[in-house]
Amino acid sequence: MKKNITDRITESIRISTNGCWEWQRRINKDGYGILWVYENSKKHQRLAHRISYEAFKTQIPHNLQIDHLCMNKCCVNPEHLEAVTSAENTRRYFESIDIDVKCRRGHKRTVENTYFTGSTRACKECRRLAQKRYRDKGRVAG
Ligand SMILES: [Zn+2]
Ligand SMILES: [Zn+2]
Repeated sequence: MKKNITDRITESIRISTNGCWEWQRRINKDGYGILWVYENSKKHQRLAHRISYEAFKTQIPHNLQIDHLCMNKCCVNPEHLEAVTSAENTRRYFESIDIDVKCRRGHKRTVENTYFTGSTRACKECRRLAQKRYRDKGRVAG
């Protein structure tokens, strides 16, 4: 069963140059990938990145949301996803659209240090650190 889902995910993505697993199937109005799954013999529409996180990593606790470290909403790469509380996710969101001169970790908002994913602005230095953090940590078993 689990293998089925992971196969379906890997068949539904295109890996971008920065390692994002960009969802190639249906995208909802908010920009997130959509996957149909069977639960209790009924078809349900679920968010692809949440399915991916649960399939490749672990069950998402009820009070947590999934945050995209890469700021790429249609990305379902479990290594780019982090489970955070709703409050933290909201805080991050507002900080990501803040026109402040610094990012949430205090890096300068320069043209060189900023990249765009759709209409979202993000800090390259933060992305670099996040990617390094994930490399250092290595893959989580199971
Ligand atoms: Zn990504
Ligand atoms: Zn930063």
